[in-house]
Amino acid sequence: MQDSELTHTLSFGLIIHEGTPEDLHTACREARRMRNEVNRLDREGWDWNDIRNTVPERAHHVKNTSQQLVEKALDEIKTYLDHREDGWGRPHPYIHETYPLRMNHGEGYKLSLTDAGDVHFRVTTQPYQYVKGVLRGSPDHLERVKTALQSDGWRVGTAELVSAHDEWRLRVTVTHEHHTVGTPEEADAVVGVDINEDCVALAAMNRDAGDVLDSVVIEYPDIKRVRHEYFTKRKRMQQAGQIAFEDVVRTEEKDFVHDQLHKVSRDVVRWVSQFENPVIVFEDLKDMRDAIDYGTRMNRRLHSLPFAKLRSFITYKAALEGIPEDDVDPEYTSQRCPRTACLHTERANRRRKRFKCKACGFQDHADRKAAVCVAQEWFNDQDGNVPSLDTLPAVEKVRRTASGLCEEADAHGAVFASGVTDAESARPAREARVELKTVASTVD
Ligand SMILES: [Zn+2]
Repeated sequence: MQDSELTHTLSFGLIIHEGTPEDLHTACREARRMRNEVNRLDREGWDWNDIRNTVPERAHHVKNTSQQLVEKALDEIKTYLDHREDGWGRPHPYIHETYPLRMNHGEGYKLSLTDAGDVHFRVTTQPYQYVKGVLRGSPDHLERVKTALQSDGWRVGTAELVSAHDEWRLRVTVTHEHHTVGTPEEADAVVGVDINEDCVALAAMNRDAGDVLDSVVIEYPDIKRVRHEYFTKRKRMQQAGQIAFEDVVRTEEKDFVHDQLHKVSRDVVRWVSQFENPVIVFEDLKDMRDAIDYGTRMNRRLHSLPFAKLRSFITYKAALEGIPEDDVDPEYTSQRCPRTACLHTERANRRRKRFKCKACGFQDHADRKAAVCVAQEWFNDQDGNVPSLDTLPAVEKVRRTASGLCEEADAHGAVFASGVTDAESARPAREARVELKTVASTVD
């Protein structure tokens, strides 16, 4: 078992009851002044410890906040110094926009639960001056900050007050301390994951026997649809020069996709949790970016988002359940035949959602098959060999829609029954459908 710390950033809007947005603005202007002072002194060759001692003394912020701001400004410079070789530019000596107000929980800002079930905030904008009110935000983030305020294992950490799109937002970090996550090598079930633009496929294999315990394809057509719609919308705005609106549209899109991906990640972790002592195995992202062969820039942008985001959401939620993750080299997982007697690898094996092996004729849903290959790759990494595999269970599909329902997918499930011949390995359609409902009913 490994001990680890999990930190996540939650973002909220502010409903102000006491004080004004102008007070927040004043606080962030003072933060900017301090940030610029740190940069000026650094350029003048000051020792950083002297900067740490001097700048807070002249600041109109409580001491904690001043220290946080100086560290934030120094971090920027440090990041630049670390990446200088890669051609990173030095931070601007003087910025004109407001600077995020970084505060610690307690003195700098304070969250608490109200009797009505809201989350009350208090931001110290300068010594003895406060802006107070309640947070608003997605149900998911509100739920998580409430958990952090109420549970022993959680700590509410620093927050940043930022002005984005004419709106004030509070970005709060919450940390789960001393979390115990299993060790990948000791897992009893190996779950391969294949993330796509419109679905995520999961395949669980038994660590000892190497047989496929179960698999599922969770479709999210709304995410793909919405991303395409917004992409077109933004492009039109760019052409019309409506840059300000473009930002708003991007925020809308991000919120929707973010929310949906959270729900999908919850579906995934719930499905994985049915197995004893599992490990979740992803394709290595860095390798994958290199391997992506969708040609155009548009495709790349459309495809890149769910990979990274969905993976980080799944990892985060899984870690809370004590489930570890691991990754494998993604090369050929989409092209290789999963039958160990065959293992034929050819690009032409895959055509959209259909996998058909050119050598042995094995057919399957391409993404589910890829998930199996990810798990196989993990076996290969761990043991140096892949357990014998000849057939796969029928493909089960569930659908995560924007309305939150997970309904039975279309009839393609039967068509996609895998196997060298259809009759040999596919279970009766009726049985597959019953299982589908079981999965659907456990997913909210
Ligand atoms: Zn084959």
